Amino acid sequence: MSKVLIIGAGGVSNVVVRKCAQNSSVYSEILLASRTKSKCDAIAQDIKNIPIHTAKVNADDPAEVAALIRDFKPELVLNVALPYQDLPIMDACLAEGVNYLDAANYEPKDKAHFEYSWQWAYHDRFKKAGIMALLGSGFDPGVTNVYTAYAKKHYFDSVDTLDIVDCNAGNHGQAFATNFNPEINIREVTQKGKFYKDGNFYEIPPMSEHKSVDYPQVGPRESYLLWHEELESLVKFIPEIKQARFWMTFGQEYLTHLRVLEDVGMTRIDPVEFKGQKIIPLEFLKALLPEPGTLGQNYTGKTCIGCQLTGTKDGKPQTYFVYNVCDHAECFKEVKAQAVSYTTGVPVMLGGAMMLTGKWKGEGVFNMEQFDPDPFMEEIGKWGLPWHEIFGQKLV
Ligand code: NDP
Repeated sequence: MSKVLIIGAGGVSNVVVRKCAQNSSVYSEILLASRTKSKCDAIAQDIKNIPIHTAKVNADDPAEVAALIRDFKPELVLNVALPYQDLPIMDACLAEGVNYLDAANYEPKDKAHFEYSWQWAYHDRFKKAGIMALLGSGFDPGVTNVYTAYAKKHYFDSVDTLDIVDCNAGNHGQAFATNFNPEINIREVTQKGKFYKDGNFYEIPPMSEHKSVDYPQVGPRESYLLWHEELESLVKFIPEIKQARFWMTFGQEYLTHLRVLEDVGMTRIDPVEFKGQKIIPLEFLKALLPEPGTLGQNYTGKTCIGCQLTGTKDGKPQTYFVYNVCDHAECFKEVKAQAVSYTTGVPVMLGGAMMLTGKWKGEGVFNMEQFDPDPFMEEIGKWGLPWHEIFGQKLV
């Protein structure tokens, strides 16, 4: 029975809080804190079975987070604010000797650059403090890392290639919206594509490589090669992988809007002079776009996210695909969220539960694939994200 501090009160947090409350034999009390307290209160009002408190916090300031930790004394901090807050929240956890978990790696505000180096640099300090940080415990990164570790453990003597595929075949009825934080989403998809091959990372122009992938329960969808952060940790911790790529689907409507927004400068992240003050165009655009947490109501269709691995088992070639399909409308019925928030929020709760129950333990900073995938795979279906397997067939 554990007390946790959850930071952030957006689309993902709404799911995390409800799922923690469902798992009340592990999560006994929650403090939900975010920049806008009214958003915490709106989530908290539906939670009746365990005590939940709310607070305002600016998580860019480690001292403010540390003060909350000192006062509430949680065993674990679940960070579902934005990647910018990862380091200040890790600093606060270090100062107060509390475990840490997040769902996206740190990126600096002034540079759309995602890599684990900043957070891996905390390893020795976390180790010395005797505490644990679990990085990237969402779906991708997160479940995709566990899928890969599970495939490697059970079905491969050696892995040659890894292709992670992420399809959202849903329709939210808006001309243009993003399924998670608009700023973070647009920074991710407008940067160069990158993949790993034979010990090196290679960059390609954004959206320049694409192919049709036939997703189970969804059908064929055009999928674009993107850089995604889990590739960096997966090739580090499973170094036999020779090639690793990440593919994501986008509709034509989304791509057209994105191109226009880019062309007119609305996705820029450098300050621009406007009526005597400096504004960042992407921050302004975010203020105009729907919040991811509000998209759920009329969302229809499904997501399908999975990992395809090839390699060898017992001297024979092996091809394996493991995936989850999630239905937007079903998610909304259960927790008032769309499937992208849902598929992220469930593994945040479960990754935290792995730590709190001691199934995953360590001192230092860890990625998901460093732990035994079995206890996580045994439970994730029960919490709403069942998984399926296909052998001997290449989808990518
Ligand atoms: P939202 O924009 O819906 O929510 C972000 C929340 O963080 C908001 O409540 C926001 O407050 C709060 N916040 C922002 N800055 C601060 C701050 N300085 N101090 C305190 N709170 C702050 O985003 P999502 O819920 O969609 O995403 C949450 C996280 O999950 C992101 O890091 C995202 O990258 C990650 N993610 C990971 C995925 C995965 O599969 N691994 C997939 C999808 C998302 P306010 O309401 O005031 O703006």
